[in-house]
Amino acid sequence: MTSELNNGLLAPADATGEWEQIAWRIGVEVAAPAADDVDRLARFPAEAVEAIRSEKLLSALLPKEFDGGGASLVDMVAAVRALATHCASSALVLAMHCIEVYNIARHGHTDGLRALARDISADGLLLANANSEIGIGGDVGRSICALDRTTTPWTLEKQALAISYGENADVVLATARRDPDAAETDQVFIAARRGDFDLEPTSEWDTLGLRGTCSRSFRLTVRVDPELVFPVPFSDIANDGSGQARQLLLSAVWVGLAEAAAAKAHAYVRAAARRSIGTTPPSAIRVAEIAADLEEGRSLLVAQALRFGYLESRSDLQNAGFTMALRNLKVSTSTLGVRTSTAALGICGISGYKRDSEYSLDRIIRDAHGGLIMVSNDRYLGDNAQLLLARKQI
Ligand SMILES: Cc1cc2nc3c(=O)[nH]c(=O)nc-3n(C[C@H](O)[C@H](O)[C@H](O)COP(=O)(O)OP(=O)(O)OC[C@H]3O[C@@H](n4cnc5c(N)ncnc54)[C@H](O)[C@@H]3O)c2cc1C
Repeated sequence: MTSELNNGLLAPADATGEWEQIAWRIGVEVAAPAADDVDRLARFPAEAVEAIRSEKLLSALLPKEFDGGGASLVDMVAAVRALATHCASSALVLAMHCIEVYNIARHGHTDGLRALARDISADGLLLANANSEIGIGGDVGRSICALDRTTTPWTLEKQALAISYGENADVVLATARRDPDAAETDQVFIAARRGDFDLEPTSEWDTLGLRGTCSRSFRLTVRVDPELVFPVPFSDIANDGSGQARQLLLSAVWVGLAEAAAAKAHAYVRAAARRSIGTTPPSAIRVAEIAADLEEGRSLLVAQALRFGYLESRSDLQNAGFTMALRNLKVSTSTLGVRTSTAALGICGISGYKRDSEYSLDRIIRDAHGGLIMVSNDRYLGDNAQLLLARKQI
């Protein structure tokens, strides 16, 4: 645990872990310079993803037996946080891809899925997800669509609510009911390689923030390869690793965004102090306040990431207390992103309000609000409220 702490997550502002350092460098050299253009045009952050691919971050989470990088989830949480400080959309692409890589590594025990894992390493395949569905919203434990095994090949048609970077993905993973007679919660999980799926956009992606994720709605049609159907129910995948990895990787984005906002406020106040040596700018105390708030968010992320590693090693990821703590992590870090960016605006004033200023908080504030709805905080608080009624401990 000490080495993990020293390996990047102890002081997230300094990128010290191996994968985190790579992500930080991509952030500085590639993602940050393109971030405003990506945001303005609501376009895929192609240059950042290309750098991520060439630096082998796409296969970092795969074990060595699949020619992957052998990184832990803690390593990737740190890498996502580092990238998010520079461009939240690029970091979200990496985070969402890593969730699916984790699923394949942990639950992909078919020859087809193992071959897919090796191809992710060899070809730097980019993985997208189509779990949410029109009519279901954020409740991905249910599906309306169903796998049809009466056709040759098997088929799946899904009205996907959002598939981030679907048009740029090499593989799409999707939930569906096991068959047309199955209950909404009796779901399978399917991977489809490019060539085996069609995407017909059914919406645009002209949003307040996180515009580079290009998360349009699509009509998804899959010609299903039985070898790419996960051999366990989706509920097992979600409860045993996927849901937990998702909360950690996405929370890393919200912490990274808060750090980006705090960094602007900090730089602004330091510049003000340099202009009148010997005085403390009035808003310096607000920066100290932000720093304390940020420290809470960082500590929560570190604690839960390390707890993940510990529980994973004891095959106890489904621990109810941990599930509750991860929902709290998501609620806390996403509200931290909004709170810190708004506070930073108060500190930077008109310089933060202007779009063409080096202290501009425009993109960061808009991106941070995406954290609140991806997935709805009320949904998580509602789940925890129910769990707390049944549990003796809080
Ligand atoms: C940037 C971005 C990228 C995304 N990328 C993908 C992707 O790649 N793949 C994918 O499958 N999905 C993706 N999504 C969708 C996302 O995962 C959620 O499914 C979606 O944002 C939920 O949509 P919603 O707000 O309409 O639905 P809901 O979560 O259903 O929320 C709608 C409203 O109902 C309320 N509500 C719902 N349930 C409860 C409850 N139990 N208790 C209290 N209140 C409740 C909420 O507070 C909210 O007011 C993305 C979303 C965003 C913002």
